[in-house]
Amino acid sequence: MNSLNHHQVLVVGGGTAGITVAAHLSKLASGIDIAIVEPSSKHYYQPLWTLVGGGVFQREESEKEEKDVIPEHVEWYQDAVKTFYPEQNYVLTEDGKEIHYKYLVVAPGLQLNWNQIKGLDTNLGKYGICSNYSYNHVEYSWETISNFKEGNAIFTYPNSPVKCGGAPQKIMYLAEESFRNNGVRDKANVTFVSPNDSIFSVEKYARTLEGIIEERNINTMFNYELTEIMADRKLAVFINVTTDEYKTLPFELLHVVPPMSAPDFIRESPLSDEAGWVDVDAYSLQHNKYPNIFSLGDASSLPTSKTGAAIRKQAPVVVSNLYNLIKKRPMRQKYDGYTSCPLVTGYGKLVLAEFVYGNKPKETFPFNQAKERKSMYWLKKYGLPAMYWNGMLKGRA
Ligand SMILES: Cc1cc2nc3c(=O)[nH]c(=O)nc-3n(C[C@H](O)[C@H](O)[C@H](O)COP(=O)(O)OP(=O)(O)OC[C@H]3O[C@@H](n4cnc5c(N)ncnc54)[C@H](O)[C@@H]3O)c2cc1C
Repeated sequence: MNSLNHHQVLVVGGGTAGITVAAHLSKLASGIDIAIVEPSSKHYYQPLWTLVGGGVFQREESEKEEKDVIPEHVEWYQDAVKTFYPEQNYVLTEDGKEIHYKYLVVAPGLQLNWNQIKGLDTNLGKYGICSNYSYNHVEYSWETISNFKEGNAIFTYPNSPVKCGGAPQKIMYLAEESFRNNGVRDKANVTFVSPNDSIFSVEKYARTLEGIIEERNINTMFNYELTEIMADRKLAVFINVTTDEYKTLPFELLHVVPPMSAPDFIRESPLSDEAGWVDVDAYSLQHNKYPNIFSLGDASSLPTSKTGAAIRKQAPVVVSNLYNLIKKRPMRQKYDGYTSCPLVTGYGKLVLAEFVYGNKPKETFPFNQAKERKSMYWLKKYGLPAMYWNGMLKGRA
């Protein structure tokens, strides 16, 4: 405990990125004084929510006490950062505390803007409106899927960057298979709606997904964005992002992915770029204006797909560069934009997309990862959660 609220390294956010960085850094340099500011008493492994929504796991399996993931000897302020004073090297918290630092790592994730879709936030969890992006409602996804009898099952993608770009469609493949298993597939119209003009940003994997969509008779509505839900009438209103035309569709099941942005307190701070994200160099992860500040994860400006897998590669770069900066040595580590999306395409089927900056595939395994594989599904179901809790969060992977 540092009574003066002054730390050598302060980490904002104790989610995937914050804990991984703190764990790696405290392993590398055991005497270093690190503190984390994190308001939540719980820590979540969010990638599991796809399988919770698909009825494979209980949501509690994605949750741990925050105190149990904070690395040993790292101080935890259970508080939220309100304002940054980067010229004076301190942050002000919601509780009114000033916490000073020599080096700052900013990793508060992104903000889910549920209220940007009219009629969504008060009706989520009712009328067949579900979302795997909410821990509080994720089990309702499975309730809605498993009770589905007939009608339109619509899966949306917002007009903003999202965490895990594949997650909005993964739950659709699980739902489609469940409908088949329950004998209601021929009475179901399954539709994916997205403001983008293709199913996935990396062509190699998009080709596989297009084949799956055709084979399973799934409809796509590209260039459309969900704007409003008339919940009691079970109607969803979409706008064509190129022509501004509106289209209203009835639904029985509406899986909504809300628009996302940088958190307001980041967007309104001197740390942000024009789009609101923490403005860092794409390779060194050092802030473009304040050299003693680094950022990674969903809140950062890194031009790659926002995933936990990306953080697994970003964290060692931040830690190495930060440590060398402390030691007054040159920063040598460079992040190549690596990210990965385990695209669940059914129960026991997965396409493991892995790519770097420029949407170029960079695969781990010595086989074509664009093929659906059972082994990769097992990796997602059992291997990756174990690697997360016992590897990443312990500074080992
Ligand atoms: C449904 C779903 C499926 C996903 N699937 C995958 C997948 O298959 N593979 C994959 O790699 N990734 C997946 N992801 C994405 C992955 O979970 C995120 O990219 C990752 O958790 C981002 O880590 P982060 O640390 O940047 O943010 P988070 O893990 O969200 O943590 C941010 C932390 O900052 C804290 N915070 C917020 N505001 C403040 C403040 N003012 N002050 C201090 N702290 C604050 C929050 O409480 C939170 O604990 C999925 C996500 C979802 C929702």
